[in-house]
Amino acid sequence: MMDAPSRNQSHPPCPPWVVQNGWSSDAPAGPLCNPLSDLQQLSLGCEPSQNLSYNHLQASGVYSKSDVAAFSTRSNSHPSMQYVCKVDQSIPDGLSPTIQERNKPPCSLPYNEAAQPMQHYSPPNAYQAVDPSSYSQHTYRSLLNQPPAQHPLPVSFSCVEPQLNHNQHLASDGGNSGSFVGFNDMLTSPSAPIQQQPLWSFAAFSKGSINDFVPTASPLDHNLTPQSPNSESRYGLNPELLPSVVKVMAEDRAEWDGKVFISEHFSRLPPLATTSCVIEDRGNVSPLAIRSITYCVPCDGQTALLSRLPLGALVTPFFNQNECLKPIPLCEHTDCVVGCRWCGASMCPAMGWQDCGQRFYCPFCGKLNEVPWQQYQPTKGAKGVRVDKDKRPELSMGSYETLNSEKGEAAALLLAIDVSASALRGGHLEFVAQQIHTLLTSLVRGGVCREAGDSSSDLRVGLMTYDSRIHLYDLSPDLSRPHMLVIAETEDMQLPVREGLLVSLKDCIESIDSVLQLIPQFGAECSDSSGLSIELPVKAGLAVLQGLKCPGKLLIFHTAALIETGHTNSSSGFFGTNKPKSIFQPSEKAISLAKECIIQGCGVHMFVLSQQDVGGAWPGHIPFLTGGALHTYSYLQGELDRERFSTDLKRIVETETAYKAELRIFVSKDLRVSGCYGLFVPGSNPGHIAMATLNCRTTLAVELTHSKALDETRGAAVQVVLSYTSQTGERRTRVQTLTLRCSRHLQDTFRNYQAETLLTFYCKKMYCAVLERPLQELRKELQTDVTEALASYRKHCCSSSVSAGQLVLPQFLRALPVYVNGLRKSEVLLPGLRSSVHQRLQQRCRVLGLDTRSTVRHFYPLLLPLLPSVDSSSPPDPEGALRCTSSNLDSSGLYLVHAPFTVLLWVGTQVPAGTLVELFNASCFSSLPSGETNLPALENCLSIRVRSLISSLNSDVPYARKLVVVKQGDTCEEALQRHLVEDKSPNGGASYADFLYHLHVNSVRLLL
Ligand SMILES: [Zn+2]
Repeated sequence: MMDAPSRNQSHPPCPPWVVQNGWSSDAPAGPLCNPLSDLQQLSLGCEPSQNLSYNHLQASGVYSKSDVAAFSTRSNSHPSMQYVCKVDQSIPDGLSPTIQERNKPPCSLPYNEAAQPMQHYSPPNAYQAVDPSSYSQHTYRSLLNQPPAQHPLPVSFSCVEPQLNHNQHLASDGGNSGSFVGFNDMLTSPSAPIQQQPLWSFAAFSKGSINDFVPTASPLDHNLTPQSPNSESRYGLNPELLPSVVKVMAEDRAEWDGKVFISEHFSRLPPLATTSCVIEDRGNVSPLAIRSITYCVPCDGQTALLSRLPLGALVTPFFNQNECLKPIPLCEHTDCVVGCRWCGASMCPAMGWQDCGQRFYCPFCGKLNEVPWQQYQPTKGAKGVRVDKDKRPELSMGSYETLNSEKGEAAALLLAIDVSASALRGGHLEFVAQQIHTLLTSLVRGGVCREAGDSSSDLRVGLMTYDSRIHLYDLSPDLSRPHMLVIAETEDMQLPVREGLLVSLKDCIESIDSVLQLIPQFGAECSDSSGLSIELPVKAGLAVLQGLKCPGKLLIFHTAALIETGHTNSSSGFFGTNKPKSIFQPSEKAISLAKECIIQGCGVHMFVLSQQDVGGAWPGHIPFLTGGALHTYSYLQGELDRERFSTDLKRIVETETAYKAELRIFVSKDLRVSGCYGLFVPGSNPGHIAMATLNCRTTLAVELTHSKALDETRGAAVQVVLSYTSQTGERRTRVQTLTLRCSRHLQDTFRNYQAETLLTFYCKKMYCAVLERPLQELRKELQTDVTEALASYRKHCCSSSVSAGQLVLPQFLRALPVYVNGLRKSEVLLPGLRSSVHQRLQQRCRVLGLDTRSTVRHFYPLLLPLLPSVDSSSPPDPEGALRCTSSNLDSSGLYLVHAPFTVLLWVGTQVPAGTLVELFNASCFSSLPSGETNLPALENCLSIRVRSLISSLNSDVPYARKLVVVKQGDTCEEALQRHLVEDKSPNGGASYADFLYHLHVNSVRLLL
C-alpha cells in the first residue's frame, strides 16, 4: 500500500500483486450498418382481388362551422355521451338527407402538376360540394367503380355520429355509444400554398390500386429543399379539422378537474396519463402503477383478435406516490395473510373468499387455498369479504408493501473517474472533482440521510480512478491519509483489500476531498491513444460492490476514446443465431456484464465527458440495461454544459431507487404473459424480470394473450409483485393488483382503450423489436395494425348508415393516428440523413425508459405561445397549448416547445423589438443569439415569467436540458421541425393529414 500521489508525483511503483497486463482492447467495434430504407411506406397490403380505382378520388366538400364545433370541449359527466350530444347539437344537418350543396370555387390541389405525370388524374372544373352522408355505402362503392375521369368521386372525409347497431351492452358508466369523430369535407382553401415538393406519386393511380400509393421522396430529396415542412394534405384534407390531441387532452383535464379518481374493483376508465388527478386506492391499483391497455378485456381470444389491438398493461412498479391520496401502506411480511401456495401470487382483494372464510379462490391459477387457522377470520356471509378487511391492506388495497424480515446491506455510491492521458489533457477534471465535492458535502449536511428517515444510517461512498489500470482508495478513517491501491490485472480482478473501500460518507469526506483535489494534477501514466474499454470501470466497480456484498450506484466519469471488446461479427449468442444483426444490439460482453450487475444490484450511470469518435463503441448499453443512463458532454467547457452536468449528477444521486429488483407478473389463469418490453435483459420467462435498479419512471409494457375464454363474472386480474432492496438495505415487496371487467362485445373493448396507453405500448414493443427486425417491417406492421383496428371498429361497431367517406374512430382513440404516425417517423424507426447511429441508440434507450406521460409528451410535444399571454398575471400553462404544426407559428410570436429531451424557443422575425430587449437583451432580430443558450436574468416581467416557466418544465424531465433558441428562417430550424409532428418531418415522414387519409381509405377498402 502506498500513500495517494502527491502534487508532483506520478503513479507510485507497482505493488507486488500488480501484473502489467492491460485490458484487452484490440477487438474492433461492431459493424455500424444502416439497414434501413428511408421511405415511408404508407401503402397497405390489400387483397389483390380488389380492383378499386382511386383515380376518381378527389377532395371536395363543404366547409361547415359545425364541423369545428364537433370537436369542441363540452363538459359532460359521461365521456361516452359527449359525442352524442355534440353531434346532435352541432351538426344538425350533418345527417339530414336534405343537405344543400354549396359550390366552392376551383382550387389547386396541393401538388406540383408539372413535376408529376398526372395523365390519369383529372381534377374537376368545379368542386362540387357533396355531403358525405347523402351517399350510402352502396352509392359510394358504385361511384368508385365508375370509369376514371368522368365522374370524379368527392371523397368527403367526413365524420358523423352513426347509430350504433349494438347498444344494449352498455358500459357501466352509462355511455351508450362508441364515438365517432367527424369532420365533413376537408378541403384545402384556394389560398393554401401549393406544396413544392410532393412526397407521394399519383402515377400509380393508373393502376387502380391502393397498393400503388408509393412514396417518391426520400430524405435526400427532402433535404435538398429544407423548407418548412407543412401540414397541408396531399389529398386536400384540412389539417385544422382533423382530430386534435391538444383538444383530447384538454377535454380530459376538464373532465377530471378537481375530482378524485377512485380506483375500485373492476376499474373503470381512468384519467389520461397526461391529466394530473388525485387517485384514491379502494381495492384496485392506481393507474400510475398499472395502466391497462383496455379497461374491458374481451372474454375470448377470438374477440380480442377481432379488435386487432393488443391486450396488456403498462407497469410502473416503483411509481411516484405523490399523486395518490395516501402513501402505500407498509406491513410486516409475517403479519400478512399468506397468498396462493399454488402459484405464488400474493394476497390481494382479487382473491375470492368462500366457505365462510376457510378457503379462498386464486384468480391467477384458479385453485382453492385453505386459510391457516392462525390467520382465519370469518367472512360477512358465506362468500363475502372478511370481517377484518379494512384493517388489512392486503385484503383491501390495490397497492401495499411488506417488509421482509431479512435485512441486507445498504446501497453504496461508487465514483469512478477516468484519469487517462486524454482525460488529463481535457482540462475538465478540476470541475468534475469540484462538483463531486459540492455534492458530497451537501449529502453530509443531511440531504440523503433525512430522506431515508434514518439519521443513524449513512450513505457509504467509494472512490476509484482509472486509466488502463484501476486505482482503488482505502478511505478508512483511521488512516492519516487515503491509500491508493493499483490493480493492473484487470482481466481477472481480485480486490487487494475490502476494508476501507466503501466508507460511511461522514467518516470519509475529508479523505475523498484530499484525493479529489489531487486528481487534476495526476501525471499521465501511460498513453491511451488506442482507447479504453467500456467494460473496465464497470467491471472494477462491480468487483468492489461484490466484494462488499452490497448494491449501489456506480457513477463513471469517462473521457478517453471508447472501444468495445468482445464484439464478434458472428450473430451467435444472446439473440440467437438465426436473427439478423442490428445496429441496436448490444455486444455479448455488454450483456453478460449487465447480467452480473443485475445480480449485484449495481446501476451504472455513465458520464461521457468528451466527444466520442464517430464509429466508436457506444457506451450506453450497460448503463441503460442496469437502470442507469448515459450522459454526454463536450469537455464541460461551456456554461450550459456545466450546468447540465451538475443537475444530472445531483439528480442521479438523489433519485429514490429500488435495487436488486425482481418483478413477477401474475395474470388471470385464462390469460398469459406473452411479452414484456422495456429496458432490461430479457430472460426466458416474460412474466419474471430481474433488474439491477429501477426508479419511479421505469415503465414496462406487458403483453397478454388469451389461453382460454375468461369468465365474464370473474373479470380479469393482473398482479405485479416487485421485490427490491431499499437504499437503507431493507428488503421490501410491493404488491399491486388490478382487476378489470370482461365483455363479450367488441364495442365495450374499443370503448375502453386509450390512445396514450396504446402509443406507449407500441413504442416499447417496437423499440424493443428493432434489435431483431427490419425497421421497414415494423413501420408497416404499425400501420397495418391500426388500419385493421379501424376497419374492425367500422365493421363491428357501426351501423351500416356510415358512408365510406366518413371517418369513424372510437372515442378514446381519436388521437391514435397522430401518435402512431409520430412513432413511425421517429428517428429510431425512420432515420434522417443527419441522425447518427449513436444519437439513435441513445434516443431508443432514453425513450424506452420513459413512463406513459413522458412518452406521450415525447411523441406530441407541448407547443406554447408565450405572447401575449405571458403579459397576463399567470404564466402560460398547458391549457394554452397549440397543435404541433408550423401553421400555428406566427412570425410576430414567441413559442416554447417542450418535450422530455428538448426545450426550444422559437422567435418569429416580426417579434417587437421591445420584447427582444426584455427577453434577450438584444436590440434587433439579427443580433439575437441562436442555438444553445441561456436566457439572461433580466428583471422584467416577461423575462422572469419565461425563465420560471422553463425552469418548472425542467424540473419534470428525467435529464437536464439546454435551452435552444431557434430564429425563424435559421439553419437550425430543422431542430424545431422534428417536433412539429403533424407536419411532414425532415426525415421524410408523412404528415398527419396524409397518414390519416391512408388509414381511412385503406380501412374502408379492407371492408369492401
Ligand atoms: Zn394461485
